Amino acid sequence: MDKPIQQLLNEDENQYSLRPQTLDEFIGLEQVKEQLRIHIEAAKGRREALEHILLVGPPGLGKTTLARIIATEMGSGFKSAVGPMMERLDLATILTNLEEREILFVDEIHRMRGYVQESMYPAMEDYKLDLPIGQGPSADIIPVPLARFTLVGATTREGLLGGPFRDRFGIRIHLDYYTAEEIQIAINRMSRLLNVKIEEEAERELARRSRGNMRIAGNLLKKIRDYATVKSDGIITYEVAQEALEFFRIDELGLDENDRLYLRTLIEKFGGRTGLKSIAVAVSEDERTIAEVYEPFLIKIGFLNLTPMGRAASDLAYEHLGYDPPDYPTLF
Ligand code: ADP
Repeated sequence: MDKPIQQLLNEDENQYSLRPQTLDEFIGLEQVKEQLRIHIEAAKGRREALEHILLVGPPGLGKTTLARIIATEMGSGFKSAVGPMMERLDLATILTNLEEREILFVDEIHRMRGYVQESMYPAMEDYKLDLPIGQGPSADIIPVPLARFTLVGATTREGLLGGPFRDRFGIRIHLDYYTAEEIQIAINRMSRLLNVKIEEEAERELARRSRGNMRIAGNLLKKIRDYATVKSDGIITYEVAQEALEFFRIDELGLDENDRLYLRTLIEKFGGRTGLKSIAVAVSEDERTIAEVYEPFLIKIGFLNLTPMGRAASDLAYEHLGYDPPDYPTLF
């Protein structure tokens, strides 16, 4: 019998959406998930909004995914905005259009302008917005009541958030790099969703080279699926995976050309140590991308140290790239 059209549409949609939809499907963070389950159940029982939540961690670890899951598990609506793009007026429009218990997800919340952050305080605390009517010192302030909503902020740089703003988030969650085992579970799940045949050993290899990052794992799987389709019969065997990883120049540790260019430039041009500005200019990349995308993982694996004198490559980085370590200590 033909399937109802709605079911077909949903299945089709699922094929393209690799995002887990529920807390059970979200891999890792077991304790955080348990805490969230309790907060969600309690809030639902009281028919109240969930406390405001701050999600902290490098890109690709699941902040957006978790925010959407929270909305699904609450049975609430979901609206999203990007911090640096928001002006006070945008914020007023968004806030006044929120429904009861709706989730407002703000990505890159540390880049929200200071005065926009400040106008968020009464909204977060008392569910009201102080709307200025008129201009200048004679402007009247009209408090506008808001629906009880939940702000879910995502940030790669918690330290850049103003203290009073940070303190208004009742729940703070830190997302860290995943273990290779956790990434392997995700690769297995994604390959089923994408209808890709992959050997277990190949899964393990991809997981090892995904830098603990779920987004990188997904992208790597899709790239290697293409390689396997074109260069062999579409099945990702261990051998095909090895070949493809070499072809895409992903090394043993999962570092790609960009990571290696960064490290090589630091070592060759700057003798292993320099400031963020100089390295950014030298590799033609903006400072934020370097500080938020490249560096955290290099720091995590001990290839890079942030010192008062700038970024410093460690002996491990020298050795990995085939250079002799310098004769001065690289650890501070
Ligand atoms: P962020 O917002 O932190 O940059 P995303 O939420 O966009 O990261 O996640 C990037 C990708 O990784 C998404 O496609 C998502 O499906 C996947 N992903 C992230 N975290 C997990 C997880 N814990 N379990 C399964 N998949 C995940």
